[in-house]
Amino acid sequence: MRKPLIIIIILILIAITITVFVPPYIDKKTNTVLYKEPIQISDAARQLYDSLPFIADFHSDALLWDRNLLKKNDAGAVDIPRMQQSNMALQAFTIVTKTPYGLNFNSNSADAFDMTTALYILQARPLSSWFDLSERVLVQCRALHKAAEKSEGTFRVISSKKELESFISDRQQDASLSAGFLGIEGLHCLENKLENIDEFYKAGVRMMAPVHFFDNEVGGSAHGVKKGGLTPFGKEVIRKCESKNIIIDVAHCSPALLDDILAVATRPLVSSHGGIYGTHPSVRNLTDQQLKAIAATGGLIGIGCWEAALGGKDIHATAKAMIYTARLVGVEHVCLGTDNDGAIASYVGITGLPLLVEALIKQGMSPADIALVMGGNMRRFLLENFPEGE
Ligand SMILES: [Zn+2]
Repeated sequence: MRKPLIIIIILILIAITITVFVPPYIDKKTNTVLYKEPIQISDAARQLYDSLPFIADFHSDALLWDRNLLKKNDAGAVDIPRMQQSNMALQAFTIVTKTPYGLNFNSNSADAFDMTTALYILQARPLSSWFDLSERVLVQCRALHKAAEKSEGTFRVISSKKELESFISDRQQDASLSAGFLGIEGLHCLENKLENIDEFYKAGVRMMAPVHFFDNEVGGSAHGVKKGGLTPFGKEVIRKCESKNIIIDVAHCSPALLDDILAVATRPLVSSHGGIYGTHPSVRNLTDQQLKAIAATGGLIGIGCWEAALGGKDIHATAKAMIYTARLVGVEHVCLGTDNDGAIASYVGITGLPLLVEALIKQGMSPADIALVMGGNMRRFLLENFPEGE
């Protein structure tokens, strides 16, 4: 063989090796679950958990990691077998498209090196998505739809009220059924084009968070540089999303952006994941006043499961934030928003969620209210706010 050919073959082998081994390694290191099996909980907590009719979570970035969702993975928290194991009905799969290097809560520039580009290349995702944010969205949407197709009916992607209704009724016959719906974290992926909202909607996206970790064309992030309000383009985005019944997720908004969205939004808002200032003062978290304002829209507040947002070392911090929020704005506005697989060390993942029920019981929440925060509220909200469907 000629020398150049040998070099090309060696380079290809190196590339294949990197693609096969490096992304799962990064996934495993980046997304961890802190609790150790087996779960030690009271019989009352176990019985209540097993009897919950609808467990749901408003935020997971599992699609970013290019896992096979049909098999139980070593890495992270979320896949379909673990949803089934956990009696979990519905998971929001939120799409991340750009992640500035040096990620922190205080200030990130939109121009910083983008770690998602590197990840997409390492994962050997379709070439069209390597440098194109809107393609990155579509690639992740397709991955979830493909998982549903291959699941032999055990998992489905929900995109309307009608589909959610039939899922709820089918699941009453077969509790092993699970479902997901698609959301986006950060509308820089619109690439300044309003019509991309239609593209993403067609691909199944039903929730959109205007910003993620940096300021973008829509508005300012709580972790951005300027942390400004809604831009004129951003106003059009909100209007268009609302006209299509796409849920607006205000997680990561700067205070100015949240105020502006509250001023123009006409439909209920959601904060899909995070903590609250009342139990953990942080730039990441919602103040009492912001919680009240979101609740006043008829909205939902998703409480997360990791230390940087919640402040505590274990799931009791999540229970504490849920109870605080329920007392402040009403339990009907509180739900789970884990941020599992969002580059966090999750207290419980999803297989450890019975520990949350145990913590809520210990901190005094009633079984009826626990059923609401563990998924009942999300079910009601989505039935009220998803597009009708055919
Ligand atoms: Zn997030």
